[in-house]
Amino acid sequence: MSVKDKYETVIGLEIHAELSTKSKLFCSCKTEFGAEPNTQICPICTGMPGVLPVLNKKALEYAIKAALAMNCKIAEFSKFDRKNYFYPDLPKGYQISQYDLPLAYDGYVDFEFNGQIRRCRIRRIHLEEDAGKLVHEGVGDGSQSYVDFNRASVPLIEIVTEPDLRSPAEAVEFFKAVKEILEYLEVSDCNMEEGSYRCDANISVRPKGSEELGTRTEIKNQNSFKAVLVALEYEEKRQIEILESGGKVVQETRLVDVERGITLPMRQKEEVHDYRYFPEPDLVPVVIDREWVEEIRRTLPELPLQRRRRFMEEYGLPEYDARVLTSSRYLADYFEECAKLCGDPKAASNWVMTDLMGLLNREGIDIRECKVTPQNLARMIGMIKEGKISTRIAKEVLDEMFKTGKSPDEIVQEKGLVQISDEKALSELCDRVIAENPDPVKQYLKGKEKAIGFLIGQVMKLTRGKANPRLVNQIMRRKLEELKSKGES
Ligand code: ADP
Ligand code: MG
Ligand code: ZN
Repeated sequence: MSVKDKYETVIGLEIHAELSTKSKLFCSCKTEFGAEPNTQICPICTGMPGVLPVLNKKALEYAIKAALAMNCKIAEFSKFDRKNYFYPDLPKGYQISQYDLPLAYDGYVDFEFNGQIRRCRIRRIHLEEDAGKLVHEGVGDGSQSYVDFNRASVPLIEIVTEPDLRSPAEAVEFFKAVKEILEYLEVSDCNMEEGSYRCDANISVRPKGSEELGTRTEIKNQNSFKAVLVALEYEEKRQIEILESGGKVVQETRLVDVERGITLPMRQKEEVHDYRYFPEPDLVPVVIDREWVEEIRRTLPELPLQRRRRFMEEYGLPEYDARVLTSSRYLADYFEECAKLCGDPKAASNWVMTDLMGLLNREGIDIRECKVTPQNLARMIGMIKEGKISTRIAKEVLDEMFKTGKSPDEIVQEKGLVQISDEKALSELCDRVIAENPDPVKQYLKGKEKAIGFLIGQVMKLTRGKANPRLVNQIMRRKLEELKSKGES
């Protein structure tokens, strides 16, 4: 038994996701990422005295939608609170958040991990505003820090889990599953590079069989799956080593250094802020109409896990394929439309997963911007079935569709790519290849079956891939067998 087997790891996440509303949480400033610094600000989101915040209803709707998708109860009565702390990116000196009466509570998310369905309970989901951003690089002479308030007051939801996750890898899968759900709901773009989706991870270890939770550390602000994994694996090992050597884990906040693969202390419990929460006096409490909640519930789309299972059942796809194809709602929509149109889900899945996704990845393009319509891809698959083009030619056609958005019929016409299925023409080509390649022919006649592959390849080469491979195979085999029986008689 390894040392690690003596312990159980316990993890809980606090996930922050920016909501993709057009305007901020309490004012009408834009939320778009990447604008010139401090061009999307106003007296409200920069905390000028005397201004009054007004809650963005769309943000509330998105938060409720996310909470329903994660099986939460929606509070009938909820309110906002001030979380007071000083930081240069926080112009008001406090963040408007929710403290004791969050918008939603008591939910769960089911997700797949190691071929099993696992459940992580959601303790609460609340709505809050984001802070601004300090800029240390790319401006000034490098000795100053600047502040950009464009992000100040962009709406966020914070999703707090129960400590139900049992390994770093499982925590990462859960973190991915929640991202997929939010993307399916279209309530957040979850762009991790832009910081729209990030988490704090809490981790402790305890002797196996123990009911009591161990002392935890919290690793702040990770915005990549790699960072979460690196941080948690390092912490798990570090804490076990401390306990094994008879020490005590100190409850503290730590930061991850992904490059070095370690975490470092940031602040200890003694230094933890007292946020002096109190109810936000400038906002009325939120009373949420039940009918509105039900209305929102009716807009929930099929979620990734359900869709994955349905793809396996309805289209007979292997689990792996179903997973890849449902990793984005738009990719899943695309595949489904193509599968229905061409009537061959397996072929559609293969073309989408390997060739089309290959092209998309190579060019860094999202499926939504793809010039190949599902109709055109389905038509191309149909043309292969009709024997009009070979699979090899189809790849060429797909490349061209990808570049130009033209239909496969148009491309085949323009480039003269129609498959050669003329028996007479193919028969002549086979004769020529047999005459020009005596050695492989001899090998075949001596019983080396595989030599036929080379001969067929030569015919394909002569026709630049346009010969119908099935026909060439038949004709070549017939001719060689004739030669063989002549030789034997
Ligand atoms: P805080 O109020 O300090 O943020 P909470 O009790 O609200 O602490 O917990 C925050 C997160 O930490 C939750 O996701 C929770 O599941 C997780 N958590 C709490 N205690 C532990 C522990 N001992 N080990 C691992 N995770 C924990
Ligand atoms: Mg915390
Ligand atoms: Zn504003």
